[in-house]
Amino acid sequence: MNVKTDDIRYHSMCPQCSKYLGEYSNTVNSKKVCTCDSIVDGSAIDSLFIDINIESQIRKLFANPVVQKYLEHQPQQNQNDDTFKDVFDGKVHKEYEKKDGSKWNYRYTFNTDGCKAADHAHLSTWLINIMLYELPKEMRRKYMILAGL
Ligand SMILES: [Zn+2]
Repeated sequence: MNVKTDDIRYHSMCPQCSKYLGEYSNTVNSKKVCTCDSIVDGSAIDSLFIDINIESQIRKLFANPVVQKYLEHQPQQNQNDDTFKDVFDGKVHKEYEKKDGSKWNYRYTFNTDGCKAADHAHLSTWLINIMLYELPKEMRRKYMILAGL
């Protein structure tokens, strides 16, 4: 993942009342006063979340010749209906492919997973990733798009 700083937007919520306080261009010396009279430091990790513009990441991903090779071909579905090896083998997906099987449709999922900020920290960081299913299973994690934290 290669994210440009221009693509990152910071947001905060009031830790006291959970009200959304808006967007910051950066978190240095950024304070906001909530309607509950709390003063919220924009860099405080317990009130911060980040969204990342995914357009430039998608453009870069789709320009990658290794990835392009897989985007031009529909993934192979398992012809045996009794086994489920990938998302393409599911009943709903097969029905969708029959109705609108355009090669320009791409399948993806949003995933999130958390990790502690430090060994004894009470806070955790949650990554929001986009995984493209057109890629072989072994490549999907390598070419994920980071959508937020
Ligand atoms: Zn508040």
